Amino acid sequence: MSEDFRLHILGCGSAKPTLRHWPSAQMLTFRGRSYLIDCGEGCQWQIQRMGLGFSKIRAIFISHLHGDHCFGLPALLSTLSLLKRTEPLDVYGPAQLEEFLVPQLEFFRDSIAYEVRLHYVGTDRVERIFDDGLEVSTFPLEHRVPTCGYLFREPRPLPHLKRDMVIQYNIPEYARRKIKEGADWETPEGQVIPNAELTSPAEPPRAYAYCSDTRYLPQLAEQVKGVDTIYHEATYIEEHAESAHQRFHSTAREAALIAKAAGAKQLVIGHYSSRYKDGEAQLLAEAQAVFPNTILANEGLSVEI
Ligand SMILES: [Zn+2]
Ligand SMILES: [Zn+2]
Repeated sequence: MSEDFRLHILGCGSAKPTLRHWPSAQMLTFRGRSYLIDCGEGCQWQIQRMGLGFSKIRAIFISHLHGDHCFGLPALLSTLSLLKRTEPLDVYGPAQLEEFLVPQLEFFRDSIAYEVRLHYVGTDRVERIFDDGLEVSTFPLEHRVPTCGYLFREPRPLPHLKRDMVIQYNIPEYARRKIKEGADWETPEGQVIPNAELTSPAEPPRAYAYCSDTRYLPQLAEQVKGVDTIYHEATYIEEHAESAHQRFHSTAREAALIAKAAGAKQLVIGHYSSRYKDGEAQLLAEAQAVFPNTILANEGLSVEI
């Protein structure tokens, strides 16, 4: 059975506040650690509401410096200090993060007692930026300000040990891990059984791609090819495609075209324009017409990657 690798939606509205949604924020959980993706206003309440806790936050990844993706950050950093965090915290984001956050860290230096380590990432290239067992890369997006997406990939799982081989050669418990890691097995009689006969390949590592605010970029499908779950902003319905293009956002149909071309298993759409007061049913229908396995992001939603 594979390990729990899960996406939690904390907020999926867009810039103009509504009572229906909170601004963009998500949390990924893997191996007892959490990774925060964007940090819209109210993010710290949403973390509590979903019972996710603050102490396991390992790093924060900001896609761009629009308020609906980062206004929650200073508040959260301060709260972590109130909660007596001592472990350093890594915060990744485009270079504008410095202008936004450094003066606030300076102003609140007495109330943030742990080290906040800022890492500036490029928004024009694919780049591996982080690996603590979960591997994180950036990929370029095109929005009104420098913006990147993030791709999260679990380590390659170890191959499976064939049960019949374990029985046939009476392989003891202590030797099994080594074989999974690539070792051959030598029988007491000195016969070497090659690793390939003892194991079968593991499932490919699971991956999640966060495609934040962006205009429709057909080439994005290449960069997120084969990931299991894609989140893609879907601010507008097709009727408002003109607004989408003018404001460097995407329609639900365009989000679905990316998921389809990338061969994803599941698409989560969000970042809904505040103009859809009757809900997001039409966004969903337009996306599903292209990519049936689409679901609507919603605060409180938690999906397995
Ligand atoms: Zn936004
Ligand atoms: Zn934006």
